[in-house]
Amino acid sequence: MKMKAAVCREHGRPITIEDVELAPPRDTEILVRTAFTGFCHTDWSIVSGALDFPLPLVLGHEASGVVEQVGSAVTRLKKGDRVVATWMIPCGTCRLCTSGRGHICSVSDSLHGLGGLLDGTSRLTGAGGEKLHHEIFVSGFAEYMVLPEAGAVKVVDGFPLDQAAVISCCVPTGFGAVENVAKVKPGNSVAIWGMGGVGLNVVAAAKFRRAHPIVGVDLEGRKESIAREMGVTHFVDSTKQDPVPFIKELTDGGAEFCFDVSGDPGAVVQAYWALGMGGTLVMVGIPPVGSVTPLPLTYTPPQNRNILGTLYGNVRTHHDLPVLMRMIMKGEYIDLSKLVSGRFKLDDINDVYDAMTRREIEGRWICEFA
Ligand SMILES: [Zn+2]
Ligand SMILES: [Zn+2]
Repeated sequence: MKMKAAVCREHGRPITIEDVELAPPRDTEILVRTAFTGFCHTDWSIVSGALDFPLPLVLGHEASGVVEQVGSAVTRLKKGDRVVATWMIPCGTCRLCTSGRGHICSVSDSLHGLGGLLDGTSRLTGAGGEKLHHEIFVSGFAEYMVLPEAGAVKVVDGFPLDQAAVISCCVPTGFGAVENVAKVKPGNSVAIWGMGGVGLNVVAAAKFRRAHPIVGVDLEGRKESIAREMGVTHFVDSTKQDPVPFIKELTDGGAEFCFDVSGDPGAVVQAYWALGMGGTLVMVGIPPVGSVTPLPLTYTPPQNRNILGTLYGNVRTHHDLPVLMRMIMKGEYIDLSKLVSGRFKLDDINDVYDAMTRREIEGRWICEFA
């Protein structure tokens, strides 16, 4: 079938909206009519070239939609089901999956690099007949998606499809970093670098865990109001003030947990220095390819400093995504009607890329297909 899709052909060049051919779903795959797709910082990094993915590629990995058609071996889903696309599909049999770390499944990881679906092949073809790659099993900036059945999670009844899009990526990534990785306890001091969609979920999760204080750090002062709405008790505009002495004084020597969500190497160093004795730095944002940063090793063992990396909040996709949707519906976690702060049409995707480059986006903007 023919459809409109947003294609990244060359790093640093505008995204092109093209007529793309989408092949039908194979036995264990489903065809989904896209409803909403969030613009994640990872999409920005792919277009800018900060992350290395095979091009040309149909962008987008934070999407929701409605099942239109299912392959002959699909058992769990049917036409009409509302689904969230997920980009982490544990194989269940590799060393990491069998040792309880399916969120970094080595099979899934190697398939991401190929730009295809679970059999390594693509369902996407450009107008000139050339192969187009999938973005990490999803490619949600397109009118339709072919997804592996295992890469689709049913949306909980009554949960809105626009909010479901961000359940794909930024909600579990931020929540899981606090809940599964740092395991923040009531009263722990927390500081977070980067007040974008993921960072605001780290804030909300820290609030959910009764952390105090919760310090938000960003290069853009205009993000203070949404950061406060999500739960920061203090905000530092790091273009105007060095966050390290501020956090050290506020927390009587340094924070118990610092999260870097920005992926900026300089922010990682700040976050390390803002830790107190026994503190833990959690790296959530992915720094650009080739990033190297000097960290003072001398203090790490005697001061019991810890550095942890996390992908996708270490979540168990099919278990945790429905849990998060139910918590949000009951008002127990983040208010996504506030986080999802802007909507755009596919044709305007370059404007969103530019707004993200200028750090103008407060919350998460989503593309509306309906
Ligand atoms: Zn993402
Ligand atoms: Zn695996």
